[in-house]
Order: sequence, then C-alpha cells, then structure tokens
Amino acid sequence: MTYPLSQLLKDAEERARQSGRQWTSQRADVLRVMADQAGPVTAYELLDAIKVVHPNPKPATVYRALEFFMELGLVHKLDSANRFVLCQHQHGQLHHRAQFLICDDCGQVKEIPVAPKLLAALEEQARVQGFQMAGKGLEVHGRCGQCRQRH
Ligand SMILES: [Zn+2]
Ligand SMILES: [Zn+2]
Repeated sequence: MTYPLSQLLKDAEERARQSGRQWTSQRADVLRVMADQAGPVTAYELLDAIKVVHPNPKPATVYRALEFFMELGLVHKLDSANRFVLCQHQHGQLHHRAQFLICDDCGQVKEIPVAPKLLAALEEQARVQGFQMAGKGLEVHGRCGQCRQRH
C-alpha cells in the first residue's frame, strides 16, 4: 500500500479536526480494519471484519463511520460494485475525480487520477446534453494485468 497506516490515521484525525468533526477511537478502529482489507469490501463484509476487534459492532456505527470517511475523502464508494475502498492517494482535503480500474476477476481496484483532458471532454459532452455529472470517480471494469497473465 502506498499510504502507510500510521500516516493514514494521522491524516484522518487531522482532517476530522479541521472540519470540526469528532475523531473517536471507534472511528479509528473502523479505519484500521478498512485498511486491513485486501481490496474493496461491502459494508457487510466490513462489519464482519470488525467483529474480530469488537464482538458486537453496531451496524449504524460502521455505516456512519463509512459516510464520515467518504466525506473526508479517505474512502470511496464504488457504486458499480456497491463496495467501499480506501483512497489510494494522499489527495489532501479536496478529493479530485479519480479513475477506478476495477478487475472483475480478482476484485482488485486501482485508483488513478483522471486525465484532465478526458475529464474535460466527458464534462463537455454531458453539458451539451444539459447534464451534470455526479460522483467522484469514473469506474472502469475489466481485467487487471495480473489476471490477464494468468489466463
Ligand atoms: Zn482517492
Ligand atoms: Zn485481477
């Protein structure tokens, strides 16, 4: 991982403080477990993983923590896969649009910046239709390099 856990936790606490939000040990635990996952997880899988640390996690607490991390730009939701993934970059407070390369074989996700030209072209095409693009990222499905080698 390009983002060491200690740095992630420090950044998270710092961002929470800057946005006037509360940082709790519970949220730190959720983030730690999130960082421990091999790839993107469903909220349910995350809840299961948290049970190892906390015997009886409240689903609402975990969901609220996820929402909180998304607001801080530390976790992304992949709408097309209905899964959550830790941000792979240290973007700072403002999270720019990212491109997610989602492997349909192994489930791994790679987050890369969207080429500005590509983004401008997409937004322009949408604008011509009177359409405003939503979301923080472009989700591209396919097969990753490792899986392609295996087949
Ligand atoms: Zn990100
Ligand atoms: Zn793969």
